[in-house]
Amino acid sequence: MPIDQVSMRELLEDELFRKWMVKVPPHALGRWRVYVLRDRGWQRGEIDSYHHAYRWMASLLRREDVLDVAVNNPAFPTRQPARRTESGAVERWWPLSLAEDLRHRWCPYCRRPTVFAYFSRHHALRTTTVDVNERRCYVCGCSQSLANKKRRK
Ligand SMILES: [Zn+2]
Repeated sequence: MPIDQVSMRELLEDELFRKWMVKVPPHALGRWRVYVLRDRGWQRGEIDSYHHAYRWMASLLRREDVLDVAVNNPAFPTRQPARRTESGAVERWWPLSLAEDLRHRWCPYCRRPTVFAYFSRHHALRTTTVDVNERRCYVCGCSQSLANKKRRK
């Protein structure tokens, strides 16, 4: 049973997030992971570039059996997209619909908001022991303490 989480389709309705996703990140070298959620759970594949990962995501989102997608880079944590306010301050993007949802956090590896919850088993961490006392990203399994570390832009 999937966890109720904001979906990539919903996130892409936001213009700033959509434009940010289209743009190839400066640290786009190396392999990327595309996570895909269907009724039977999450699966992932790896691909050689962000450009190809994005195109893969876009094609997955056109399929009716696909519930959610994430484009993940486990080597390069990423901060939320930023915008300048009228006063010139930098404001980090966050979906308004999630403003009061305390389960969602920015996952710097999935590059999107995901639910951080407690897991006794996690699909992305099959070969390691899962610390049941730590919240983890529903998609990639990164721990809350790792997600909170200082990140690149
Ligand atoms: Zn994640």
